[in-house]
Amino acid sequence: MTKTMTARDTILKFGLKCRCPRCGKGRLFNGFLSLAPKCEACGLDYSFADPADGPAFFVMMTMAFPATAFAVWIELAYEPALWVHFVTTVPFLLLSCIPPIRPFKGMLIASQYFHKAEEGRFEVPPQAPARSETDTEARSS
Ligand SMILES: [Zn+2]
Repeated sequence: MTKTMTARDTILKFGLKCRCPRCGKGRLFNGFLSLAPKCEACGLDYSFADPADGPAFFVMMTMAFPATAFAVWIELAYEPALWVHFVTTVPFLLLSCIPPIRPFKGMLIASQYFHKAEEGRFEVPPQAPARSETDTEARSS
């Protein structure tokens, strides 16, 4: 890549397409949600990528409102039998939650790559030199 990549390019363009956040060519996933070990085009090691439950959480929290509103609307408007919810609300819930997880996970991984996000670590200060007994004796006297 010769041009400078912006956050929009990296996160939206490559993330939504589930492509490598560095080159945009290699595939990010092996299966539906399992991450490939590295980019097949540029060799970027994907071990930095750990969105954990982030994609599922954000998709569920976003889609829970329309799915719940849909179920409540059906219940209040038609007062149907329970099986009607199994053929209307459950498919609506599955179709609104499962397909967006993959591109959302791609976006979170691209965001991690672009912003160099990683797990927090404590910085250990360098060890102070050990005091000798003469230092201790000099202070006490
Ligand atoms: Zn790549």
